[in-house]
Amino acid sequence: MKEFKGIDAKNLTSMHCGGKIERLIEADSNEELFDLISGLDKFFILGAGCNTIFEDGSISMPLLRLGSSFDFIERQGNTIYAGAATPLPRILDFCIKEGLTGLEFMAGIPGKLGGALCMNAGTKDEWIMSRVDFIEIADSKGIHKVKAKDLNCRYRSGNIPSKSVVIGAFLLLDAGNTSVVKERIEKALEKRKNQPKGYSSGSIFKNPEGANAGQLIDKAGLKGFKVGGAVISDVHANFIINQGSATTSDIKTLIKIIKERVKTMCGVDLEEEVKIIG
Ligand SMILES: Cc1cc2nc3c(=O)[nH]c(=O)nc-3n(C[C@H](O)[C@H](O)[C@H](O)COP(=O)(O)OP(=O)(O)OC[C@H]3O[C@@H](n4cnc5c(N)ncnc54)[C@H](O)[C@@H]3O)c2cc1C
Repeated sequence: MKEFKGIDAKNLTSMHCGGKIERLIEADSNEELFDLISGLDKFFILGAGCNTIFEDGSISMPLLRLGSSFDFIERQGNTIYAGAATPLPRILDFCIKEGLTGLEFMAGIPGKLGGALCMNAGTKDEWIMSRVDFIEIADSKGIHKVKAKDLNCRYRSGNIPSKSVVIGAFLLLDAGNTSVVKERIEKALEKRKNQPKGYSSGSIFKNPEGANAGQLIDKAGLKGFKVGGAVISDVHANFIINQGSATTSDIKTLIKIIKERVKTMCGVDLEEEVKIIG
């Protein structure tokens, strides 16, 4: 187990902002993780921080992170068994190498497997949980397997029980062909080539039923609108970009303005996809 104190939050997230993390604890085995979970009333489990922003100031809630022993991939027939700390791009490289098809739609989504399962990451048409058979969860009662079908997942929520940590998952894929899988992944990456560049958390808001959050924000005339060091991307209005000096307060102010303006002009309530912690 490793413990770090006074870590800059901006070094832990893709939005690159926020205050100081008082305690960051990294567990490197199921036993260490179980001891930690059992001993803490409250904690936040962090993946790669691509969908997370920490508040400015001091964050006293302990942060847990999974160490390198949770970063592994194995093939069992057409199933991949992977640890929750495995980066998503590595899983896709493994699919290419093994000629396994079914996850190509995840190409270009940054993060780790645990974060992707919690967020039920994907595109507007497909999400990762549809390929999951079981997830392995650690909670204060121990370690157990949960059937994905029993989790009642929905768009951008894996519905992981609170105070639980995903430690691994069994992903059901299909036998394919290495070059076809590679080509599909390249196509998916090509579609993302024009995605906004810079520090961001990807899409800030979920797409409302039957609508597109980016188009609504654009319709509300907010592309390019700026607060402090944070700006609404003029490439994709559902992205807020930290131009380098943004505080979490700047980003929260922008989020508030977007929600108010979209409600007034389009009559739609936007809901955040990004998690703001603190
Ligand atoms: C440029 C860019 C593009 C993006 N494009 C997409 C996209 O197309 N589609 C999409 O869905 N998302 C997208 N995202 C968002 C992000 O990549 C995904 O949500 C990703 O799955 C988050 O993974 P993470 O490891 O970074 O999670 P984190 O941000 O670290 O955590 C996200 C949530 O998962 C929880 N969590 C993390 N690990 C675990 C665990 N082991 N057990 C239980 N809970 C856990 C955290 O507590 C938090 O609530 C994009 C982000 C960026 C920056």
